[in-house]
Amino acid sequence: MITYNEFYIDGDWAAPAGTERLDVVSPTTESAIGSVPVSTTTDIDRAVSAARAAFDDPSGWPAWSPERRGEALGRFADELEKRSPETARRVSSQNGMPITLAEAFEGGFPPVLLRYYSQLMIDGPAEERRPGMMGGTSLVRKEPVGVVGAIVPWNVPQAISFLKLAPALAAGCTVVIKPAEETVLDAYLMAEAAVAAGLPRGVLNVVPGGRAVGAYLVEHPGVDKVSFTGSTAAGRKIAETCGRLLRPVTLELGGKSAAVVLDDADLASSMESFFGATLLNNGQICWLNTRVVAPRSRYGEIVDTITDLAKSLKVGDPLDRETAIGPLVSGRQRERVEGYISKGLAEGGRMTTGGRRPGDLDQGFFVEPTIFADLDNSATIAREEIFGPVLTIIPYDDVDDAVAIANDSEYGLGGTVWTSDPSRGEAVARRIRSGTVGINAYSNDPHAPFGGIKSSGMGRELGPEALSSFQVYKTIYLDPRAS
Ligand code: NAD
Repeated sequence: MITYNEFYIDGDWAAPAGTERLDVVSPTTESAIGSVPVSTTTDIDRAVSAARAAFDDPSGWPAWSPERRGEALGRFADELEKRSPETARRVSSQNGMPITLAEAFEGGFPPVLLRYYSQLMIDGPAEERRPGMMGGTSLVRKEPVGVVGAIVPWNVPQAISFLKLAPALAAGCTVVIKPAEETVLDAYLMAEAAVAAGLPRGVLNVVPGGRAVGAYLVEHPGVDKVSFTGSTAAGRKIAETCGRLLRPVTLELGGKSAAVVLDDADLASSMESFFGATLLNNGQICWLNTRVVAPRSRYGEIVDTITDLAKSLKVGDPLDRETAIGPLVSGRQRERVEGYISKGLAEGGRMTTGGRRPGDLDQGFFVEPTIFADLDNSATIAREEIFGPVLTIIPYDDVDDAVAIANDSEYGLGGTVWTSDPSRGEAVARRIRSGTVGINAYSNDPHAPFGGIKSSGMGRELGPEALSSFQVYKTIYLDPRAS
């Protein structure tokens, strides 16, 4: 049992204002594995005023040179790295992420992002003197946007936290971050790393809590920018609040992406990449390609190939290195996924494998990888995000039809094209209305922007584009008499 009694606020451990606590439950054993205090509005007020004071200090964090901030963030990256194996274990134990994935995503990615954005700030000019068209000179500066309120979900908690923290901190912003209730124990390791790295007071503040606490942070008068990852429903509410307040907001929301299999694809030899694009993290990643769009001419064979893949996946303890599919994060999430499986059957889907809780596991929120065939794109399970290991294979007639099916979605976040001809793959990828598309694989890269269109959100994370989202332009019209 991992127990914490304080919050990381203003560079130190602070006693909570309230008495409420939350228990973290292992989705594998269904028993409590940790306990932390829940923030109240008073704790959020303290965290925001610490971040505000750190930002407003004329010689503080935003006034430091990119090199000096880079040194501090480099120490933070080093301290995170020391804790990487424990971070991976905690994430797996809290949300069921297979440990090999947790090591790569949760332990490995945050230090990479901190170093990447620190270097980007050092390399990129923060200001530019532009000769005016009418004489005179303008000084154009990129300044940090201010105090950031960051809200993250449970599915990939550390990597998603650092998609926000790394560019925000490198840009000179200060941050109050609210982890999801299901995954707070890894957030404490992050706070311990910040303490060990000696991050200046108030630059980073971590306040665990639920929706109400998140909503309070979003509309806090001391916050200048909101960065949110989570469900589309919560994103809409947050966008409404930010619209009313005219507060900049980045939203990474849900998805229902399509894997378009072209008629020349050799899917059987791409199974590892295909698994990574469709069923990774037990189906609990926003960009997963949960609709497989397959040519009618090869439909039966493709359904068999994907069914064989699903049958071959080892379902079990996420801490076992052989496990491909761990449990879903909670009993509530399993009920939601089982509800969608029932709906798929009720709407005439043919379930070729899965659909049950594994017979050999008598505890844990497990659902077998489940494949549906013979449904079209109008089926509920082809339209709504399930967030579990459930794929729907939809037939198409020709490439125009395939592209139309892929684009016929409320969402637009990920996607893939599978083909033996890369140039054909690229031509189809260009036609898919989505923020990101992969050809014969899907993998986010720190150098390239990631994000969605339509109900998948607005704004971009990763790449230099994410840094810009934590910066505002300021123009100083220099004294014309000086030039
Ligand atoms: P959720 O939206 O319920 O919760 C996400 C976070 O937001 C949690 O910290 C929660 O406490 C907080 N929250 C919820 N309602 C809020 C509100 N009104 N105001 C402020 N904070 C609020 O989502 P979840 O169930 O935890 O996560 C799963 C969802 O997240 C899925 O729909 C998935 O697609 C989405 N997701 C998207 C991305 C992406 O990058 N696009 C990444 C991961 C997850």
